Amino acid sequence: MIKLETKSVVLLHHHLKALRLPTIGAECEKVAKQAAADNADHLAYLLQLSELELLERERKAAERRLKAARFPTLKSLDSFDFAARPSVNKVMMAELERCEFIDRRENVLFVGNPGTGKTHLAISLAAAACAKGYRTRFIRVTELVTALIEARDERGLHGLKTRLAKLDLLVLDELGYVPASKIGAELLFDVISTAYERTSLVVTTNLPFESWTEVLGSERLTGATLDRLTHRCQIIETKGESYRLQDAKARVRRSKASGSDADQDGASKPLEGGTAKG
Ligand code: ADP
Ligand code: MG
Repeated sequence: MIKLETKSVVLLHHHLKALRLPTIGAECEKVAKQAAADNADHLAYLLQLSELELLERERKAAERRLKAARFPTLKSLDSFDFAARPSVNKVMMAELERCEFIDRRENVLFVGNPGTGKTHLAISLAAAACAKGYRTRFIRVTELVTALIEARDERGLHGLKTRLAKLDLLVLDELGYVPASKIGAELLFDVISTAYERTSLVVTTNLPFESWTEVLGSERLTGATLDRLTHRCQIIETKGESYRLQDAKARVRRSKASGSDADQDGASKPLEGGTAKG
């Protein structure tokens, strides 16, 4: 490859900047040296540079999506203990993690007691969606209702709803702790019905369906909300008691068991490490 004069290199960097190709700008000289050493032709050189630019762009976009999703913490299915929650089907979760339900505009509803892993599972699916390029947002329902009421007061409701409408996946966490204000319930219903067949919803709730009227206030609204939410929806129940409680009890059982074993046969067994999760 013919060596470029310093002036040309300066000009090249200027052009690459104008064309918004920062990675090519940063890498072109280094890669050029390597290409010369490898006797690579011009097209191979160009291919390598364009690949680097694309990879960097994808990495940055993924980073932006993850930030925009505003997960309180990152969780994945890999760290979910399926043995501790037999009502959650591992194969089904792996299938949902592929995100085809988002293409089909379907919803996923996690129902169960507090601490049973609903938020963990919801974040796992949404984080997978983010990585696959879906525009995703995680929000607690109380937070959303407050934002909606504030936006309405400041006449910013249209803007907020437009932003929500651009999402591929909206996670509504903790439906059920909503203050039962009429206007809050109506605004929430509006978000759910706008999302219907356009944006996938992942909802977590500790409310059994029969208690929804208490939260949404009116039977008509509850019926309509449930109807939209559960039409084309996977309902996953996280049955049982809180994971932390379960985990703590198991640890107590284990330490008791190892203590009584030692009493019986007098053999010194290695103590089990408390494998706290969560
Ligand atoms: P919920 O949303 O149902 O109240 P969370 O998802 O917030 O429950 O779970 C509470 C904590 O326990 C979190 O730190 C979560 O990661 C952890 N956890 C719950 N279930 C499991 C599980 N089956 N395997 C691993 N960690 C779990
Ligand atoms: Mg939760």
